Amino acid sequence: MNEKATYIVMLGPPGAGKGTQAKVLAEKLGLVHVSSGDLFRENLSNETELGKLAASYMNKGELVPDDVTIAMVKDRLSRPDCALGAVLDGFPRTPAQAQALNGILAEMNGRVDLVPFISVPNEVLVERLGGRWMSHSGRVYHAINNPPKVKWFDDIDGTPLYQREDDKPETVLHRINVYYEQTSPLIEYYRAAGSLVEIDGTRPIELVTDEIMKVVK
Ligand code: ADP
Ligand code: AMP
Repeated sequence: MNEKATYIVMLGPPGAGKGTQAKVLAEKLGLVHVSSGDLFRENLSNETELGKLAASYMNKGELVPDDVTIAMVKDRLSRPDCALGAVLDGFPRTPAQAQALNGILAEMNGRVDLVPFISVPNEVLVERLGGRWMSHSGRVYHAINNPPKVKWFDDIDGTPLYQREDDKPETVLHRINVYYEQTSPLIEYYRAAGSLVEIDGTRPIELVTDEIMKVVK
């Protein structure tokens, strides 16, 4: 229970830069980065039942069902390290998840304070996801836009980078469609709630961060 906790929801299509920006913002603001995709991938590498269930949806580019996703994020947000708040990335992704998040945060005397909506055209998304390289600790690189110092190893801990199974071109196109069908209604939802701020995500990573930080302040 902390009345001063801050919750920021990064919204935008796959590849818009939500994870990249969420990581930086969380560091700058002293908040925890909570990525539902990273939580599923952690479960997958730990071979949990949840991980196996999630993989059957993730590999097809489909959304994991709301009930398990909501339960997983609720559990993460209730841990002590989130007492000051969190930068959420990849959650909520459906109107039902957005409703559930309001309830979860209300129980902690919190609310969604700000929703940076990172907007990027589809052709750029496809190029970004095709060139994305990930570290196991969730750091995100791009072959051209944000390459690691040494190909293909993480700058910080030196572990090998990998390309996501669901970043293959055919799955990427499906994920973008799923975003428009199931997630994009949240743009109007958060606009109506007065928390949405539209951010031009086509600019270089640092400039996008600056734009979001201006709004946060
Ligand atoms: P999301 O979490 O929205 O799916 P990511 O943060 O993983 O997106 O970014 C997708 C890819 O685009 C990554 O390879 C990342 O390095 C790259 N990227 C992110 N933001 C930018 C940007 N502003 N300009 C160029 N490339 C970017
Ligand atoms: P991401 O890392 O955010 O790109 O998410 C990767 C995949 O994990 C998605 O394509 C979904 O299959 C699943 N996923 C992540 N977050 C959610 C969510 N909030 N709701 C449903 N599925 C999700």
